[in-house]
Amino acid sequence: MAGLRVAAYCRVSTDQTDQLHSLAAQQRYFSEYIAAHPEWEDAGIWADEGISGTSTAKRKQFRALMAAAENGEIDLILTKEVSRFARNTVDTLEYTRKLRAWGVGVLFLNDNIDTRAGEGEFRLTIMASVAQEESRKTSERVKWGQRRSMERGVVFGAPAPYGYRLIDGMLTVREDQAEIVRRVYDMFLEEGKGTHVIARQLTENSVPTPKEKRKNWSSTMVLRLLRNEKYCGDLLQKKTCTPDFLTHKKVRNCGQEEQVYLRAHHAPIISRTQFEAVQRELIRRSAGKTRHSARYWCSGKVQCGACGRMLTARRSVRRDGSVHIRWSCRACGRSAIQDDSLRMFIGMALQAAAPHPEHTIRALCAAWRAAEKQEDSRTPSCREEWRRRADILRELLYTAQTVYAQTVRLIIVHPQTVCIYFQGLCQPINIDRRRGSISDT
Ligand SMILES: [Zn+2]
Repeated sequence: MAGLRVAAYCRVSTDQTDQLHSLAAQQRYFSEYIAAHPEWEDAGIWADEGISGTSTAKRKQFRALMAAAENGEIDLILTKEVSRFARNTVDTLEYTRKLRAWGVGVLFLNDNIDTRAGEGEFRLTIMASVAQEESRKTSERVKWGQRRSMERGVVFGAPAPYGYRLIDGMLTVREDQAEIVRRVYDMFLEEGKGTHVIARQLTENSVPTPKEKRKNWSSTMVLRLLRNEKYCGDLLQKKTCTPDFLTHKKVRNCGQEEQVYLRAHHAPIISRTQFEAVQRELIRRSAGKTRHSARYWCSGKVQCGACGRMLTARRSVRRDGSVHIRWSCRACGRSAIQDDSLRMFIGMALQAAAPHPEHTIRALCAAWRAAEKQEDSRTPSCREEWRRRADILRELLYTAQTVYAQTVRLIIVHPQTVCIYFQGLCQPINIDRRRGSISDT
């Protein structure tokens, strides 16, 4: 009978030179370990190095090992620790389950877990969760440290805004560009020019743009200059955040994390009076226009879960004349949702967030009846009183629901879920898109 074909997988980071050493050491260790079992057959040592381990895609040897396992070339994989096998719980469990489906076991030597054993998966889940929790804590610590630094006024996020230099976390005025910023503010406020006109004139005069590679000014670039609080000396930190500590993906911070606003943080280029006048003027001028997106009921509140940009609504008219609205991400194209579904989900979230009027009324009426049973509750005047109270309550509750509907703060559209944030509620209400119901996670 052929022996058990046993492979080993190890991963080392090359941050420190002695760890390079330990790759050879680990390979030798596994070779000897396999050789020490006469009933085992050496199916190869697989090793990835130099990758800190957040993405499986880059781990060539790991992928090759999985392919070999799927091909039926391996019966058992040896590895040292749960934390070295995959990048997180989900991955670890997913891979070990796949392997088990192919009839391949995994033996975590240091953690003493064998996925072929009955309680192996249970123990693995716990181990992997602990490893992941550790990773989350590290991420929290980094965030906390960053926040303390931000409160002290250290500027995060390169590059420096147009008109400034960023040296050791400090903003200092760069005079050649600062002059352009002042000119833009004057053109907008004093000369009454629009952002398109300003952009065209700057381009015509060959003024260098904020983006090194771009020769032409755009109206968006001008608008960014006009809106940036840094020009009046203030600093808003945490404009973006990384809510997912596993993917480290940056999204626009729309209230998921507290922002830090520091007044008079650095030397201004524009006086506060002029800056505030420009902000008022921007609002005044935009109010006159009917912007394409403002037509829709919650535009500016629906965010792409993949890239953090705002989704935009597109109207189309079907052949039968009915109107059809679909929200989608124009930046990455990965998120999309039908307007009908979105409205339905908000309705469901509302019921979860605000009490449902009819349920509440029924419960309260029952309570009243019980309380008033001693008195003669069958007299017409008493019933009249209940009805009157119920009406008042119904009105109050419907008002509450309407108020909630107007306080949808943010909606994040993910492939499987839609997260709805209400004003004043910390936790979002999550809707499972496929099942069309509230999900607990
Ligand atoms: Zn997107």
